[in-house]
Amino acid sequence: MKFLKRLLFVPIILSMITFAEAQTRVIAHRGAWKTENLPQNSIASLKHAVDLGCFGSEFDVHMTKDDILVVNHDKDFLGIDIETSTYQELLAKKLPNGENIPTLEEYLKEGLKQKKTRLVLELKTSKISKERTLKSADKAVALVKQLKARKLVDYICFDYDAGLRILELDPKADVAYLNGDKTPAQAKKDGYTGLDYHYSVYRKNPTWIKEAKDLGLTINAWTVNTQEEMSHLIAQNVEFISTDEPELLMEVLAFQPEID
Ligand code: MG
Repeated sequence: MKFLKRLLFVPIILSMITFAEAQTRVIAHRGAWKTENLPQNSIASLKHAVDLGCFGSEFDVHMTKDDILVVNHDKDFLGIDIETSTYQELLAKKLPNGENIPTLEEYLKEGLKQKKTRLVLELKTSKISKERTLKSADKAVALVKQLKARKLVDYICFDYDAGLRILELDPKADVAYLNGDKTPAQAKKDGYTGLDYHYSVYRKNPTWIKEAKDLGLTINAWTVNTQEEMSHLIAQNVEFISTDEPELLMEVLAFQPEID
């Protein structure tokens, strides 16, 4: 009898492990840059995320004084403030690998050379005004449409209104909220398709992952760089993990515990 129970138990555990492995996908945070020492948010880091087979590659988008969308994490590009500078002024500096600051158009065009790795577009919040944040949302959605990139792009943002604007302009877009201060029910009610919160938010609100799943929201966690936190999230079947360590996350996902 004990043997029979054991026989029944093993396939259940195995299927749970397979399920967990199939559910969580790797998002390279600011591209895949760390192991190859590439600049974050460079075209090279996007290409490397694609080469690694990441499910998605995240990048950050700001708008220059002359309304050009560019890809960079910080509000300054190597010391030049982006929002108060023209695109031309940003060309005074280059990334360590020789690239100019990528425009969003260049970045999307590179991403569109393939279809496997999703392009996770983080719209940054303007320090100048809400109006400029919303204007950058308008321009990003228009560019994504113009380049026929809608099927490959997911949007994320800290500014709640910016996400709502994206959804208004493209109701079929996948838009996830980053700031961690809305319940799953509120985000769902307002039309968001996912939550993309810092992993500590899920620790503080342990019911949110299940609540979000029950509502049909996707769950991403950022920025998860330790094996322990990766395993904790994988065990809860979160769909996406954003990490500076995509290779490590791939290893953790491939790990199959031995069942005896
Ligand atoms: Mg980002």
